Amino acid sequence: MNCFDLLKNTLLNENINLNLESNVPNQIYSKNYFEFENKMDELLNYFFSNNPSDNSVFILCDGKFKSSEINSNINISDIIIQMISKKYNVIYKNLSLESKTAVEDIHASEYFLNHVNYFIQNEKKCKVYIALGSGTITDLLKHSLYLNDPNSIFISIPTAMTVTAFTSSFSVLDIEGAKRTRISNKIHTTIWIEPLLQAAPIALSRAGYGDLLARFVAYGDWYLAYKLKITESYNELAYRLMEVFSDSLKNLSVSIGQDILTSDATQIHASALAMAGIAMSLSGETTPLSGYEHVISHALDFLKITSNRTLVLHGEQVALASLTSAMSMDWFLENTEFDIKKFRSMNEKETEKLINQFINSAPYYGNQDNINSIDQNKLLEVKKLFIQDYMIKSEKWDLAKEKFDTFLNELPEIKKHLSKITIRSYEMQKLLENAKLPTYPEVTNPPTSALEYRWALRFSPFVRSRFCIADFIFWVGEDTCVVAAI
Ligand SMILES: [Zn+2]
Repeated sequence: MNCFDLLKNTLLNENINLNLESNVPNQIYSKNYFEFENKMDELLNYFFSNNPSDNSVFILCDGKFKSSEINSNINISDIIIQMISKKYNVIYKNLSLESKTAVEDIHASEYFLNHVNYFIQNEKKCKVYIALGSGTITDLLKHSLYLNDPNSIFISIPTAMTVTAFTSSFSVLDIEGAKRTRISNKIHTTIWIEPLLQAAPIALSRAGYGDLLARFVAYGDWYLAYKLKITESYNELAYRLMEVFSDSLKNLSVSIGQDILTSDATQIHASALAMAGIAMSLSGETTPLSGYEHVISHALDFLKITSNRTLVLHGEQVALASLTSAMSMDWFLENTEFDIKKFRSMNEKETEKLINQFINSAPYYGNQDNINSIDQNKLLEVKKLFIQDYMIKSEKWDLAKEKFDTFLNELPEIKKHLSKITIRSYEMQKLLENAKLPTYPEVTNPPTSALEYRWALRFSPFVRSRFCIADFIFWVGEDTCVVAAI
């Protein structure tokens, strides 16, 4: 079976409605540009059939040259603009040009969101909006439409298979360096173009694969949160939706390690990424595919954004952190004794003090200049956010630890289920090696120092309000770095 059919059938088996008006983004996979043009034409005809006079299509790009196929010097945005303008009025925005910023410096921050908001508010109202580009471009347009024109039709055309943003209804925005996930517009259709995805730098596809590896660990965080009664809601819909891709995802690791993706590998990768975004949207939260590994990645991003340094690709960082998460799960499965005397609990004052210590001793840099250039007011804001978020789960832990006996009684069963829904670190390590993804911090691009990585692991409990296994490790009085042997 073709993998996009597998995706559809799996959703239908769960009684999820898939017509063009449903909440699940329609998935179109084109093997070549001829197929793409026909499908795009059909889709736009469908949107504009009721009201042909309102014929504007908005396209947002970051402005970087993106080869339309391997060894081609034709830019994908030229192809698409030319194709659509045969029948429709195209409003094209190049974010790099409009914001006078180098493409590398564009990220999903409030600053660039304001730029996109400006386009949406000041241009002629369009019926159809297209994000042609990376996760950043997709998240920016997705969130801006949510704020400014939620009833419009939103299409994503990924230029590389990097993140789950192309099908999810969430966006990850950075607020003073702290990554925050926000509910955003739903995506109507995602169009995957095989030759375009094959022409993307392989590092990007590898990163996207790395983001998907969260699938093999993050459910453990959610399940533990539920069993510890830190969260009341838990369901395995997203687990089942992703489980059908489990074997093909593991087998894909070898193809991901090659320099050029085959047609099959491209299709499997695209469909699994698509399902991951859909699974999160249907769950109403990112929890099923965003656990400890994402928290570590956010902590590392915080260090780099605060000191104006280049970020490691999101998925590359998540891949490395997935190994840490798998090692932490292994520790939990092997550990049978918890010493209640070592349990930690902190009030707001103590939390503030500890967060201050972390922020003041953070390895932001390498040199003193960078430390001086850090905006102290922004740091103060983000500290407040960290404290607030930590207190949310900390209060729940204070209640949960009173009932720790119940948790201990259930422990054999909990471990059994946890070991089913997550994979062990030796298996994760193998997947990373096959896919040529980092297995230790120094080999990320740019390199992450062991100091930074250890800081991120120890700071993990303070990164966001949602529980992950790092919180548990911290609360029972252990050290996240020791547990993951880093
Ligand atoms: Zn991610």
